[in-house]
Amino acid sequence: ATFEDFKFNRQILNAIADSGYTEPTPVQQKAIPPILNGQDVMGIAQTGTGKTAAYVLPIIMRLKYAQGDHARALIIAPTRELAMQIEDNVKAYAKYTDLRIVSVYGGLGPKTQIEIINKGVDIIVATPGRFMDIYLAGHIVTKTLQVLVLDEADKMMDMGFMPQINRILEIVPLKRQNLLFSATMSDKIHELSANFLEFPTVIEV
Ligand code: AMP
Repeated sequence: ATFEDFKFNRQILNAIADSGYTEPTPVQQKAIPPILNGQDVMGIAQTGTGKTAAYVLPIIMRLKYAQGDHARALIIAPTRELAMQIEDNVKAYAKYTDLRIVSVYGGLGPKTQIEIINKGVDIIVATPGRFMDIYLAGHIVTKTLQVLVLDEADKMMDMGFMPQINRILEIVPLKRQNLLFSATMSDKIHELSANFLEFPTVIEV
């Protein structure tokens, strides 16, 4: 398989080429088609498998590479390090598009993060606590969200983020695409997926 098989547009293919990727990894081959179709996906994949591009590339495609009024995709990650890494990935893959990306996480003041959001943003990468703080301060519009990603969901559960995740699920539109990635499968992840995903395509690598 090649990246051309997915019918990505030229802007995305050029960014993939700049990243030096010649062919999709197994998780990308399996996850990209159902995500492009708008389906919910549960991916059991470790870091290092290319899971970030597996959901980021089709999200960029689904957002039509163009700016919207408010955020349309929200990616939740357990740690500041992972959020920063995902932000770097999204910026690299979206570099030939007009999409605006922000990441919000703790460990530094929210002022700059809020200023960026107020200028207009299409994709938000966030840790759960800081996302809720900025939302509750009135700076994030959620009614325009179309895609919600929980990355490293097993780690988020282990770190005790379920209350914040459940709060986030209460403030996003009911009609949306859900993507859940976890390194491991467990009873807890199964329970979360039952609450979070609708008729998901399940992918294991
Ligand atoms: P991830 O599992 O998302 O943390 O990605 C692990 C590493 O694989 C990152 O450094 C990516 O830049 C890289 N990567 C992602 N997709 C591909 C690909 N199709 N070919 C080669 N490297 C890739």
